[in-house]
Amino acid sequence: MKRRDFLATSALGLGALSLNGCYREENQIECKSINISRGKKVTLKLATSWPAHFPIMGTGLDNFAARCKELSGGTLEIKVYPKNILVPALQVFDTCSAAQIDAFHSGVYYWKGKNSAFSIFGGMPLGLTSEEMITWMKFGGGLELWRELYGKFNLYPLIGGSTGPQMGGWFKKEINSLADLKGLKMRIPGLGGEVMQKLGVNPILLPAGEIFTSLERGTIDATEWVGPALDQMMGFDKAANYYYTGWHEPGSILEITFNKNRWEKLSSEHQAIITAATEEMTGTMIQEFRYKNAKALQELPKEVQIKTFPKEIMDAAKIALKEVLENESNKNEDFKRVLQSYTKFTKLNMPWDEISTKNFLNIRS
Ligand code: CA
Repeated sequence: MKRRDFLATSALGLGALSLNGCYREENQIECKSINISRGKKVTLKLATSWPAHFPIMGTGLDNFAARCKELSGGTLEIKVYPKNILVPALQVFDTCSAAQIDAFHSGVYYWKGKNSAFSIFGGMPLGLTSEEMITWMKFGGGLELWRELYGKFNLYPLIGGSTGPQMGGWFKKEINSLADLKGLKMRIPGLGGEVMQKLGVNPILLPAGEIFTSLERGTIDATEWVGPALDQMMGFDKAANYYYTGWHEPGSILEITFNKNRWEKLSSEHQAIITAATEEMTGTMIQEFRYKNAKALQELPKEVQIKTFPKEIMDAAKIALKEVLENESNKNEDFKRVLQSYTKFTKLNMPWDEISTKNFLNIRS
């Protein structure tokens, strides 16, 4: 193949400007650099913790993969493997750490068994919203700490979406006091589950496929999931009538995490494309959750009553959370460090949030 033909072929799929540039002799140097970074096709295997094309989270990831291909002119292909196809849903972390897959898309809160500090990167009960979490990560040092701690597992995380505020969950009976929580069996994972346990709830972990039947049959008394859009899909509105507003997952963060060696071997151009595509995915996912939750809320059956937990319960939850965090900080130095960074940002953010967003929402309402 003649050099000129090679340049033209390799540049196929790039914008018209680059393609034209390749035909101009005087631009050969620029052309060459394009071919070095983009010429070699890279295919990455990415496993997820969701079923194929799962609404919002899974479809967001499908779009991410499509955007990587598009932005790279076809030189970066990310093959998405839904849960259990290549790897079981909750083994993506270990498999990627061992370089058996290149990347995964999942929820950070799943890995608190690896290091309890990871639960803070996933989101905090009664804590920061999605936008605030992302701000802490990008500007307040959160992402740096996350990458440092994941680095010990040979992993490199990027923010891979967020759910926006989640609802507090579906209850079969109304909750009027702390006493009503005693002995209640509720599906609720993570730090929220630990807080609920201190309030007398018996937190249960169930695979997604078993939650509806357990709630319908009364094997459990309550469950949290995400928000109206995904909860309705699970059918919870047919199994319980009391739908409580959220407190335990105000801004849960999802991740697209790479095997660190694999990430470092990618060209800087492919790294930049992936980073830009994750940013786009995160913004779009938050917007899509907002729109679809707002819509699904209007479509809930009339029997469903939206409730807010009594002040007595939320006050007790705040105290219980403080105990959970102190206890974990004493046990785990990493947890203590991450919590310090998180708290520092929270204190910085709070006075501004009070007079900006919170104040405005009060005026607007
Ligand atoms: Ca949830």
